[in-house]
Amino acid sequence: MRSKPRQTAYGLPYPVPSGAAATTRMRANRRSDTGPELRLRSALHGMGLRFRKDYPIELEGRQTRVDIAFPSRRLAIFVDGCFWHQCPEHGTMPKSNPSYWKPKLARNVARDRRVTTALEAAGWKVVRVWEHVPPEDAANLVLATLADRGQRP
Ligand SMILES: [Zn+2]
Repeated sequence: MRSKPRQTAYGLPYPVPSGAAATTRMRANRRSDTGPELRLRSALHGMGLRFRKDYPIELEGRQTRVDIAFPSRRLAIFVDGCFWHQCPEHGTMPKSNPSYWKPKLARNVARDRRVTTALEAAGWKVVRVWEHVPPEDAANLVLATLADRGQRP
């Protein structure tokens, strides 16, 4: 059964997000504690790994927050939303208001690259995981990268 659309004082329905994709997109806009990141964190916890979430790092005079950080190994994990970070498989461009979305999403992608480069310059290893990657796969990737980091002098 469909619920009746809410009405404004003028009898017009409120603007609603256009379909499920838009709703997911809006939900995914939260900086931390998104579903995919939560699922990866609990998979890592399940492997007995200890890490810091939403870990602040000062880079080139600006603060960056790493989704999941292993500071002693200098390993930074980001869980990137397919829409906000323009995943090649699911990174759609909204049809409405392209003059807003195009530069905004391009800025996101450019910022991701900048942050990755700056972290690498500071000696960090950066792993970016798309939100569409199953959490177990992402956790295994993190585990393998940690093992690799551990073997370095
Ligand atoms: Zn994707």
